Amino acid sequence: MTVTLDIARQRTGTAATDTNAAAPRTWLIGKTRRQLQATLEDIGVPAAQTRMRANQLWHWLYNRGAASFAEMTNISKDLRARFAEVFDLSRLEIVTEQISTDGTRKWLLRLPPDELGRRHEVETVYIPEEDRGTLCISSQVGCTLTCTFCHTGTQTLVRNLTAGEIAGQVMVARDRLGEWPHLIGQAQNVPAGGRFITNIVLMGMGEPLYNFDNVRDAVEIISDGEGLSLSKRRITLSTSGLVPEIVRAGNEIGSMLAISLHGTTDEIRNRLVPLNRKYPIAELLQACRDYPGLSNAKRITFEYVMIKGVNDSIEDARRLVKLLKGIPAKVNLIPFNPWPGTDYECSDWDHIEKFAQVVLKAGYASPVRTPRGRDILAACGQLKSASERMKKTERDALSARRATPESAAAPVSGA
Ligand code: SAH
Ligand code: SF4
Repeated sequence: MTVTLDIARQRTGTAATDTNAAAPRTWLIGKTRRQLQATLEDIGVPAAQTRMRANQLWHWLYNRGAASFAEMTNISKDLRARFAEVFDLSRLEIVTEQISTDGTRKWLLRLPPDELGRRHEVETVYIPEEDRGTLCISSQVGCTLTCTFCHTGTQTLVRNLTAGEIAGQVMVARDRLGEWPHLIGQAQNVPAGGRFITNIVLMGMGEPLYNFDNVRDAVEIISDGEGLSLSKRRITLSTSGLVPEIVRAGNEIGSMLAISLHGTTDEIRNRLVPLNRKYPIAELLQACRDYPGLSNAKRITFEYVMIKGVNDSIEDARRLVKLLKGIPAKVNLIPFNPWPGTDYECSDWDHIEKFAQVVLKAGYASPVRTPRGRDILAACGQLKSASERMKKTERDALSARRATPESAAAPVSGA
């Protein structure tokens, strides 16, 4: 395992912390096109120009990954100087970067200060495979829900992330992977298709549908074809089953949907996903049936964590396929990832395969998600802000290893 902290490669300092005494600079990351225009109006850019200027900023910010106004050569020097006075382009601060033996990378990112000046942290994970690279991003610090098998669920909700903090995770990952258009030619070991990040999953910390507006804005930014340019077909939002927001998410966010099902009876699911007591399985599946735009080409992914002796019997598998009847669906079986303090165990491998066979025979794709990055607690459900998990002594040890020769600046080695 490689653990590094390589501040030298961060393109700027701390996000939104450089304030001038008179007025804090406005952090631009996370602004939609409409919001950028409004912000420009606020600083006195003439109305006839705001659209054009917003387009320019958009391009530099989200397409080129510019981290300074000096790079924005098609904007006049005077205007750039004005922008630099009032706007902040800096990135989320990387506290640590860990690289798993399987190439998975996990970043602990420090957020800009909240209104009380507290600086919280979230985790973001990059999973390289031969034909794709998936970035798993967080939507909240902690989670209000308390799924009993999930490490994040043991960290109570601290706060929602802003749209900038959600989209900003993608920007940091692009920086670290060297995946901006002008850099990609120099990168090594780029997965097939010429991109490092081909897919985004909202499967990090938090319940995205409890942070609806910010997730919606972040997805709008990430999927814009003239910006970060990851199509909504390649962005998957995972929810534990917040029924009233599911159809709305289809209409207003429009990403792919994943449902954390995990149980085939209300009794089992109540135990694993306590939100089920409020929105039981039948209601959840009805919301799935109503999800707009479903077809065989646009299916819902049902995530099912395999926990030994709890939800992994062949009976469960049979009940599962009955429940899914009529829904364009695929099933993602996730071997339970252990974390410190849990009593659950992962189902045996041959058992998972038998379960998968039943689902497959019923006509549903049922890939088993290979656990990735377990050695650095980067696998599904293992995330938790290190601010809570790590002791100070451990953090100091990490910092001391900054100068490790296996620098994070090394090219990604692939899966
Ligand atoms: N809150 C959202 C998204 C984040 S969790 C949700 O619950 O869907 C992402 C996925 O990881 C969910 O399917 C979740 O159930 C699963 N997960 C949580 N803890 C896990 C663990 N210990 N092992 C395997 N998967 C886990
Ligand atoms: Fe929250 Fe999802 Fe973990 Fe449940 S599984 S506690 S909803 S992050």
